[in-house]
Amino acid sequence: MSTIRFQALQTVLTRTIPEVKQPSFKISDFYGSNVFDKKKMQDYLPKETFKAVLASIESGSPISREIAEQISSAMKAWAMSKGVTHYTHWFQPLTGTTAEKHDSFFEPTSDGQAIERFAGDALVQQEPDASSFPNGGIRSTFEARGYTAWDPSSPAFIFGKTLCIPTVFVSYTGEALDYKAPLLKALSVMDKAATEVCHYFDKSIEKVNASLGIEQEYFLVDLALFNARPDLFLTGRALFGHASAKGQQLEDHYFGSIPERVLAYMQDFETEALQLGIPLKTRHNEVAPSQFECAPIYEEINLAIDHNQLLMDLMEKVAKRHNFKVLLHEKPYAGINGSGKHNNWSLITNTGKNLLAPGKTPKNNLMFLTFFVNTIKAVYEHADLLRASIASVSNDHRLGANEAPPAIISIFLGEQLNDVLDEIETSRISKKAKEDSAMWHSIPKIPQILLDNTDRNRTSPFAFTGNKFELRAVGSSANSSSPMTVLNMIVADQLIKFKAEVDKLIKKGDKKDVAILTILKKYIKESKNIRFEGNGYSDEWAAEAEKRGLQNIKTTPKALDALVSEKTEKIFEETGVFTKREAHARHEILLEAYYKKLQIEARVIGELVTNVILPAAVKYQTELINNVKGLKDLGLAKDTYASQLEIIERLSKHINFIKSNVEQMVEERKKANVLEDSRDKAIAYDEKVKSYFEPIRYHVDKLELLVDDTLWPLPKFRELLFIK
Ligand code: ADP
Ligand code: MG
Repeated sequence: MSTIRFQALQTVLTRTIPEVKQPSFKISDFYGSNVFDKKKMQDYLPKETFKAVLASIESGSPISREIAEQISSAMKAWAMSKGVTHYTHWFQPLTGTTAEKHDSFFEPTSDGQAIERFAGDALVQQEPDASSFPNGGIRSTFEARGYTAWDPSSPAFIFGKTLCIPTVFVSYTGEALDYKAPLLKALSVMDKAATEVCHYFDKSIEKVNASLGIEQEYFLVDLALFNARPDLFLTGRALFGHASAKGQQLEDHYFGSIPERVLAYMQDFETEALQLGIPLKTRHNEVAPSQFECAPIYEEINLAIDHNQLLMDLMEKVAKRHNFKVLLHEKPYAGINGSGKHNNWSLITNTGKNLLAPGKTPKNNLMFLTFFVNTIKAVYEHADLLRASIASVSNDHRLGANEAPPAIISIFLGEQLNDVLDEIETSRISKKAKEDSAMWHSIPKIPQILLDNTDRNRTSPFAFTGNKFELRAVGSSANSSSPMTVLNMIVADQLIKFKAEVDKLIKKGDKKDVAILTILKKYIKESKNIRFEGNGYSDEWAAEAEKRGLQNIKTTPKALDALVSEKTEKIFEETGVFTKREAHARHEILLEAYYKKLQIEARVIGELVTNVILPAAVKYQTELINNVKGLKDLGLAKDTYASQLEIIERLSKHINFIKSNVEQMVEERKKANVLEDSRDKAIAYDEKVKSYFEPIRYHVDKLELLVDDTLWPLPKFRELLFIK
């Protein structure tokens, strides 16, 4: 009997549900208790310092050394009052996870004693020896040093017994080596561009913040079963496994009652998340068995992303207490739905106005239409870059797999707004002053409450949902900074261009509103091809999209070309979000991550097949052979063991296929490994090596159906998905 699998199954049966302690039944009692937020700053800082810090945070201006010193002591005092002993700069390197290096507050003094100290300098900047983080060649050319620098716009928090300071991570020569630095740049460009456009309508607006609400999907699996699947723990997905007889076909999981053991886990991580100021609001079962979702209330983007990164860490950590493993991979199990991370995005002014919410008056609607149409135009112009920003080896399984949006970027608006844009496109804009009211007539009425009317087209990668756009193509394990940096940058760039065009018309003598509407009309016409209301999963759409000239790039290595195209280079430079060197470094890092992950998967396939799966099949075959021999010895006729013979032959057929294909795959791997250029290597891994995965899997899964269940070494899909 194959021991690990059955031990694991036995272990699952003995699981008990740990007691979940909540500090209070009222969330408001403990929400943010582990965050050094404004309230705590006010309590711990002198009044003047507190004011100075707030001003710096709002304006983004640097914080003086002296003030940093006071803040660090205040942070230390607060943290120590909660039993904290260490601090760390917390950052998001391009590995996709978060990084931290803990230092204690403890410092020896010259008289042989010791004190607890946290200096302002240690708050503001650190120099982790970061030569082992991905840098795409930036670092090896000069110095191995990197800097982490405090981001005061995201508050410090306590995780475990450590005070965590959110920071950006840059190289010695100033290039961004993380996700946060370019995001902050894009957000600042957006703020400036959007505020200026707002001034056409409302001079009192001083700031525009981009907002983000992230819906996070995930799978749960029992820890013992997870540990019995080397493919799951080495690659995050099951590389083999025949579909379970019952999968998601009955659609009985979605929004169903949450299993008790899972609910306890959810309550536990939610409690910790809420203490960290992560405003989790929603939880439910997702479509696939053992798939779930949680979502916070939206926040300013930088904070929303820090919170999502922290949440993913937290979910992993808390899962251990419940003997679960949380799977954030985009496609852990073939044949059932994968996981995404919907990014709900909007623009909100310091006066509290959502620029993507239609207003009551025609004037308000012109403002709404301005931001709405510019967003559409931006996505139309840079769809390839947006596609690149969500590309990864794991998300390739999802995009276009008829459960997530296709790899073709299109925009869904809903019938009403589509009609509105069509109407503007065909309207005649009156330019004469005395016909002022006529100009307003060319803006169709927009119903204020669209929320219930926007039918939910789940097949669209970028959908307008009433008062926000929802980017649905982001993978569940991704750092949302990547697509959000791109989205905010391209919309900001578009707004800058829009303003220049409108100003030009005004200079020529057009009235402001007429000029705005004229340019919007032009944009509506130019960007029409990206609008699509139909079924994104259909073959007709792929054909239609091609006719429209929209790109449909299915795999990462080619999708990433858009990161280093001439067009992209221009927008990166104009907005200042990436230097050419940074863009090329990122391109390199992403390609490397792509082929390295496939390399690991290919190796795991080879090892598991050779050492685990084929031996089980051979063992079963030997049992059958012995059985046949026995029956023969008894002198029984051939038809008494004909079935056994047939199974023996089928086993041989699958075994031979698997063995020879694994050998060929290894040969292709060797060829790919010697390629110098990362793009060539990534493409070789995609087209040559990966192409063996499916056929090998097919035959392994056939073996799973043939071999005696007690001999099968890997937990089966039915066990991974249904046993909790
Ligand atoms: P669903 O899309 O599943 O129906 P909701 O409409 O409740 O769910 O919202 C999903 C996410 O969108 C939540 O995180 C919510 O806070 C966020 N959201 C709502 N309004 C906005 C907005 N104006 N800007 C950004 N995110 C928003
Ligand atoms: Mg949604």
